[in-house]
Amino acid sequence: MHVLYSPRYHVDIGPHVFPTRKYQLVHARLLADGVITQQDVIEPQPASWDDLARVHTREYLTKLRDGTLTHEDIAQLELPWSSEMVEGFRVMVGGTIEAARLAVCHRAVVGHIGGGLHHAFPNHGEGFCPFNDVAVAIRVLQHDGVQRAAVIDLDVHHGNGTAFIFESDAAVFTFSMHQQYNYPMWKPRGSLDVGLMDGTGDADYQRQLEDALPAVMASNPQCLFYLAGADPYEQDQLGGLALTLDGLRARDRIVIEQARRKGLPMVVVLAGGYARDIDHTIAVHVATMKEAAA
Ligand SMILES: [Zn+2]
Repeated sequence: MHVLYSPRYHVDIGPHVFPTRKYQLVHARLLADGVITQQDVIEPQPASWDDLARVHTREYLTKLRDGTLTHEDIAQLELPWSSEMVEGFRVMVGGTIEAARLAVCHRAVVGHIGGGLHHAFPNHGEGFCPFNDVAVAIRVLQHDGVQRAAVIDLDVHHGNGTAFIFESDAAVFTFSMHQQYNYPMWKPRGSLDVGLMDGTGDADYQRQLEDALPAVMASNPQCLFYLAGADPYEQDQLGGLALTLDGLRARDRIVIEQARRKGLPMVVVLAGGYARDIDHTIAVHVATMKEAAA
């Protein structure tokens, strides 16, 4: 399996609930466990500002590039501004773009040890997401001639930015299954939204996922994007669902099987993960990539 990754994802954001070191830890664990070799790993180039502008407004991009975000912008983004931060995330968007192109080219599952920045809107960043990597990658694919895509967003938080961006694009199906009473407060309507009750566990989760996926596949996508958030985990600090490590593994298998069975290109991105013990977040992400590589 091709895997996209850059050490530049490990950005210093000070003491923060978002462990940016998780990317290098997942990368190291996948190599150590023999899931991937050095030859499988591709270091992406930063997304160009022109590609970012396929989704984001020039005004917002200028503020990010020049460090002229307002206090309100930074409060909403919930990340301190630095050029290192902007560049790290720009490389991360490049990783999702390159993963998408590889997936389509090889009709394969491609993993990205990064990405899933689903809270970013065209004109602002939110919830640790300065850019919406999946949305930019879909716009790039559309520019390349691949029109139809579907997003399977299983992060514990609703994919608000992604839903908003593709609200009026019938070629892109956005599916989000998330904890209903959690951030973000405002959940713009996606193609299919399943809001789960607090404390939803493995069996109920799996049933609702299996009920929802046929609608996603019926949209006839040419490429699937899977946001395999680790934050539905029962010990997540920012999530209120109750999935076990086994339940999350079953979730991954169900989703990735959809692509395999139909021979569809799929990009797997990590999205969120804030377990009290970072080893648990790493374990979830590593298991996702193992399933993707299987
Ligand atoms: Zn999340």
